[in-house]
Amino acid sequence: MTEELTPQQELENIKNNLANIVHDTKNPLAVIAQNANILLRYTQLNEDKKVHYLQAIQRNADFLLNLVEDLDFQRLKSGQLQLQFAPLDVVDLTRQVVNNLNSLAEQKSLGLTFDTSDQTLIINGDKNHLTRAINNLVNNAIKYTADGQVRVILSRRRHKAFLYISDTGMGLSEEQLGKLFERFYRADSARHIPGTGLGLAITKEIIKLHQGEIKVTSTVGKGSTFTVCLPLAMESQSEF
Ligand code: ADP
Repeated sequence: MTEELTPQQELENIKNNLANIVHDTKNPLAVIAQNANILLRYTQLNEDKKVHYLQAIQRNADFLLNLVEDLDFQRLKSGQLQLQFAPLDVVDLTRQVVNNLNSLAEQKSLGLTFDTSDQTLIINGDKNHLTRAINNLVNNAIKYTADGQVRVILSRRRHKAFLYISDTGMGLSEEQLGKLFERFYRADSARHIPGTGLGLAITKEIIKLHQGEIKVTSTVGKGSTFTVCLPLAMESQSEF
């Protein structure tokens, strides 16, 4: 169990971690600026080269966007960020997340697959926030896997949707697993990979706000499986 921090300790913690985060933004911003500069100066570049520079801009802009969204955590936690619940097909949403991350997996030569037992699984959810949570998990699976594959599976059990995200990546020890959902926690093995340590804390909070649960099993050097369970909306439950 983690000890509750006093508001002062909490502030100090955020300030220290923020300094690291600000530092992390410099590199992606520099890449964006340099690549935009090249594209403006060398207008005769061939198509392949242009795509190469544009992809780097996109990758780094996505990273910064994620980072800024992570920093919204405080508002989510304090209830200032209101979730907009509506019937939502979690199959469709997961498929979109996986499709959007396809090119990232391709760049690392990783397999990325999505399988589902059902055509649709309707939950009562906030589309933007749930997209962010599932995106965090699939993105992490790709980020912390050097080779092999990431498998995303969605299935229904009774009145719940179960989402499994498995990777063949670096994995985590029992001790690391105990701290995984703490804010700003980053495993030592992940230090060379950019990140804020906020994604999983946010993901857990979002899942909780959907009356769901998140669990993880992992083996160092072999990989991890994150399991998210979400209650189905009433109308889908009554089908059975
Ligand atoms: P970030 O990825 O920005 O560091 P997260 O909160 O998403 O922040 O993750 C916290 C830490 O958990 C990561 O730094 C990494 O050490 C570990 N982690 C998360 N997902 C995985 C995964 N799929 N495989 C191995 N380690 C992971």
